[in-house]
Amino acid sequence: MKFIADAMCGKLARWLRIVGYDVRYDASLDDDDLVEIALEEDRVLLTRDAKMLLRRDLPPHLLIVSDDWKEQLAQVVQHFGLDTVSYRFSRCVDCNEPLIPIGKAEVQYRVPSYIFDAHDTFYTCPQCRKVFWVGSHIERGRKVLDSLFTAEAAGN
Ligand SMILES: [Zn+2]
Repeated sequence: MKFIADAMCGKLARWLRIVGYDVRYDASLDDDDLVEIALEEDRVLLTRDAKMLLRRDLPPHLLIVSDDWKEQLAQVVQHFGLDTVSYRFSRCVDCNEPLIPIGKAEVQYRVPSYIFDAHDTFYTCPQCRKVFWVGSHIERGRKVLDSLFTAEAAGN
């Protein structure tokens, strides 16, 4: 399942990428662009703009009701029954590209030496070339997602 998010859903787009979903986001796209790309690339449009719903050429979509990104994420996950566990941290949050594994030797001069010494598994984004590892930022993201979705599951 792929998405395209409108300019008001930037933080939601980033968190859906953290969860592992393919989300196009570019704040410079106008309504016509969003609709055209959604139809062309088979993406579900995520929009905060109720006016969008009046369009006759509207692709599959979800009107995002909250201003709060956590509630937005919960709405999308619940509505589409998304898997919030299996694909976490598999995608670059900035570029939306799937991360690829990279050999330890290749990152020696691209990460701080204390990181290099402490980790064996690294990933890189083919677009921005940033290097990722299972470290504090992933731990923080995991905690946020766990608190959001396990708390919810326990409450139901
Ligand atoms: Zn990237």
